[in-house]
Amino acid sequence: MRNSQRRVAEFLDDEDLHAPPAYRLLDLSAEVGELAADATASSGYGSDPDALSVQRDELGDALFALLALADELDIDAAAALEESIAKYEARIDDGGAPGSGE
Ligand SMILES: [Mg+2]
Repeated sequence: MRNSQRRVAEFLDDEDLHAPPAYRLLDLSAEVGELAADATASSGYGSDPDALSVQRDELGDALFALLALADELDIDAAAALEESIAKYEARIDDGGAPGSGE
């Protein structure tokens, strides 16, 4: 993850594509929306969940946007991921579900 975040940061530097975090968050939302569009189209709006698929490049776009947001916020994405996994493990160990709404 650290290498990926560094790769995104270098790309943003090299191509002079830095942007305010608010823009990066909007871009991330748009890319996640494209994943949702893939999912709704492939599954017939959920009527055939087994047919659900998303395009690999769209997943890459969303990951790029997330790592670009982390870079603009000066957040170590790998550390943030480890913190989340530890949080989910603690919830499961406490007998619950990993999600916060369960
Ligand atoms: Mg896209």
